[in-house]
Amino acid sequence: MCENEDVAHLRLDRYRNVYVRKRTLDLKIGNSALHLRVQQHMCIQGKALPIFQNFDVLREDIMSTPAMEGVRPAEQKLLDSIVKGSVEELKSLVQDPDVRTDFVDDTGMTPLMHAAFRGREEICELLLAHGADVNADTHQNKYSALMFGALSGNTEVTRILLNAGAKRDVENSVGRNAAQMAGFVGQHQCVSVINNFFPKEELLYFTKIHGLEKEPKLPMELFPSLLKLVNTAALHPVKLSFYLQEHVGLLEEYKKIVKVLEMLCEKGMKAKDTNDVIAMKTHYLATLIRNVGKIYAEKKEVETWIKCLVKGRESDGFAEYQEKFLRQVLREFPYAESELLQQMVRSLANVQIGDSPTAVCTLSQGLNGQRFQEDDCCDTCGEPKAAKKCSACKMVNYCNLRCQKLHWSTHKKFCKKLAEQYKLQEIRRQQEEEKQKEQAAKENMKKAEQSQEQSESIQNESQGKVPHEGEGDSNSTEHTELMNES
Ligand SMILES: [Zn+2]
Ligand SMILES: [Zn+2]
Repeated sequence: MCENEDVAHLRLDRYRNVYVRKRTLDLKIGNSALHLRVQQHMCIQGKALPIFQNFDVLREDIMSTPAMEGVRPAEQKLLDSIVKGSVEELKSLVQDPDVRTDFVDDTGMTPLMHAAFRGREEICELLLAHGADVNADTHQNKYSALMFGALSGNTEVTRILLNAGAKRDVENSVGRNAAQMAGFVGQHQCVSVINNFFPKEELLYFTKIHGLEKEPKLPMELFPSLLKLVNTAALHPVKLSFYLQEHVGLLEEYKKIVKVLEMLCEKGMKAKDTNDVIAMKTHYLATLIRNVGKIYAEKKEVETWIKCLVKGRESDGFAEYQEKFLRQVLREFPYAESELLQQMVRSLANVQIGDSPTAVCTLSQGLNGQRFQEDDCCDTCGEPKAAKKCSACKMVNYCNLRCQKLHWSTHKKFCKKLAEQYKLQEIRRQQEEEKQKEQAAKENMKKAEQSQEQSESIQNESQGKVPHEGEGDSNSTEHTELMNES
């Protein structure tokens, strides 16, 4: 059931959201067929689209039939080493004078594209270091290395290519860019990496002195921590506040940082090719840093602020302050014409505080193009796949002890109640299981009954079945029932 409900969210158009449903497709086709398939489905915007669940199989098909006309033997060896993932072999092959940089196979794929599609991080780095063109456009259907990397689902490869200057807005011959292609095959983490990528040159600009300035707008020592912050995909305010707590330099100079972020926001909206994802994100970060910076200037700590964000209201433990803060962030976004903003505002318009979707969910979905609410998210900081549970109630998840401690003052009021809920759930689950077992046993009995003509032999038959079904007790009641019936 969950499989079918696994509705993935992606941004197909700059402003349009399309829902993609998982469905297994029977595919045994090559490269151009993938392309056709994609073309066919990508055209139906706004509708539920099938997704390549068996994409791995498809990938193997594409890779396994390279008819290599015009590829030299040494180059063929290099391609083989990419397939095998053999870094050492590749290291010596790239030195071979017979291996051309960016040679292409029959489909126009360069070695870097192959490595990206295979999700080979180290090999991608090696090829790039040897001068591979990250923006080569030789592929027959105009797939870029970034598209192949994103399709592979390897976020590190995607990041390596972006850092090497891969262009995000390049479109293939069906008019789709890398993020859209990745979303289409369900690689949402790659979508998120691409959407949130902020080229370091743009930030580096602020570390230099321009015009009549006496000092740069951004102190160089704060550049790495700010770059990391602008590139993060974890947008939960608690998670971001943890980061600020670890990088107090950003808070000590919060006025400068806020100014830089505001300029980036403006640039995002006023550039020829507007990017309201970056604009909204930098606005959000600016608002957060301004708030936390002021508090830090006064108290020299961030913990009080984090506790405020985590604190739940009396009635149901919902983090009301956090919700209000984030809604405020949206309200204060200076560009009312932004479609991204309008879309977020619409999704929150008639939602009472405490109901779904929450502001953090809406924000994260809008900026990352993916679902946020997963069952196993940390109840404190939103981090996905939080493995620890409250041992008393088993109904809340945390990443670690720190997150649990922060949440405890709120959770302790509800832990007992939740524990009871959990117990009830467990009982219901067990009852359901037993019911199903009984049902199965009954059906088996019926089958046995049907297969025998004489009522005497039914008993023999059903006794014969006992060992297969295990659990003597439940079976003995089955017997009496069956005998009563007959
Ligand atoms: Zn956490
Ligand atoms: Zn609990």
